[in-house]
Amino acid sequence: MKSRVPFNDLKKHHESLQPALGEALQRVIEQSAFIRGPEVDLFEKEFAALTGVKHCISCANGTDALYIAMRALGLRPGDEVITTAHSWIATSETITQAGGRVVFCDTDPDTFTIDPADIARKITPRTKGIIPVHLYGQPADMDPILAIARKHGLWVIEDCAQAHLAEYKGRLVGTMGDVATYSFYPGKNLGAMGDAGGIATNRDDLVEWMTNFSRHGGKGNHLIEGINSRMDGLHGAVLRLKLPHLRGWTARRQQIAAVYDRALAGVGDIVTPVVRAGRSHVYHLYVIQTARRDALRAHLTAAGIETVLNYPKALPFYPAYAYLGHQPADFPVAARHQDRILSLPIFPEMTEEQQTYVVDAIRQYFK
Ligand SMILES: *Cc1c(COP(=O)(O)O)cnc(C)c1O
Repeated sequence: MKSRVPFNDLKKHHESLQPALGEALQRVIEQSAFIRGPEVDLFEKEFAALTGVKHCISCANGTDALYIAMRALGLRPGDEVITTAHSWIATSETITQAGGRVVFCDTDPDTFTIDPADIARKITPRTKGIIPVHLYGQPADMDPILAIARKHGLWVIEDCAQAHLAEYKGRLVGTMGDVATYSFYPGKNLGAMGDAGGIATNRDDLVEWMTNFSRHGGKGNHLIEGINSRMDGLHGAVLRLKLPHLRGWTARRQQIAAVYDRALAGVGDIVTPVVRAGRSHVYHLYVIQTARRDALRAHLTAAGIETVLNYPKALPFYPAYAYLGHQPADFPVAARHQDRILSLPIFPEMTEEQQTYVVDAIRQYFK
C-alpha cells in the first residue's frame, strides 16, 4: 500500500522536471556520452561555481569521493583519522579502506555534529586528519575544528553529502576544509538518477592526482594505478538540469522545517532541531527527539506516515566496529541520541495537506 505521506517522493520530484528531463536524457543518448562527456564536464564547472570552490571532480558516488580524497591526501597505514560517531558508515569505512585507523568522537547534544572538544582529546602523534560531517544539513562547528587542524598540522575533509549550500558564519560548506565531498544519491538534496558523487576543493595541488586516480590513473597514460570512479553522462545531464532549482528546493525544505518547528514546539517531550546562531540548515533530514520514539513511530506508521531512523545506531556500536571495543559510555551523547531520534518526512514537493496530516498525527499521539 502506498503511504499517505511518503518519506520522500522522487516520482513527484522528477515529474516536476518534465519535459526537460526527457529531453536531457535524449541528448545523452544522441551523443552516446554514457560515461563522463560534455554534460559531466559542464556540471563540474557549474557545481564548483554554485558552491564557491575552484574545482569540482565528479566521481561515481559520495563514498568514493571520501576514499579518493583520503588517498590524495596521502594517508598511510597506521595513520589515524578522527570522525564523528554519528553519521552514515561511508564516512568511516572509507578511512579504513584508504589504509587509516578510525577514531570516533562524540557529538554535540543539540546539533548532532562532531564535538570539537572531543576531537582535541583524541589527537595523537599519529593523527593525520579530521572528517566533520555536516549532518542532516547543518554545518559542524568549523571554527574550532579548523583551529585544532591548524595547530596540529592536520587536513580536514568536509563530508557535505547532506548539506549542499548550507552556510557557516557566512561561508558555504565545502569551502573551509582542504577537500569537500558530495553525494548525489537520488534522495540527497541534489540527486542524480542513480549513484553519483563529487569532490570539491580549492587546493590546486590535489586536482590532477584526484582526477587521474579516479580514472584508472590517467586517460591515455597510466601515471599511477587508479580506480574506476566516473560519473555517467546521464547523471551529469540530470544534475545540470536540477542545479538551477537547488536554491528554491532548499528554501522549500526550510519553510517546511519552520512549520514543523512551530507546530511541534511544546508537544509532549519533543525536541525539534536546534540551529546554532551563524549556521544555516538545509534540512536534508528533519530529525526530532523523544523518549517515546518507538511508540510514536509505530503510531505514525499505522497512520500511513513513513519515518526513518538516521541512524538506528551510532557507528561505534555496529558489529563492523566491535573490534574497537567501545562502550556506550565512550560516546554518551551519540549513545543517547540513537534511541531518541526520528526523521520526519521532508521534501520540496511535500504539500501543506501532507504536513498538516503529519503534525496532527503527532499531536494526537501525545494527547
Ligand atoms: C550519503 C552519504 C555518503 C555517501 O554517499 P553515497 O553517494 O551514497 O556513496 C557519505 N556521507 C554521508 C554523511 C552521507 O549521508
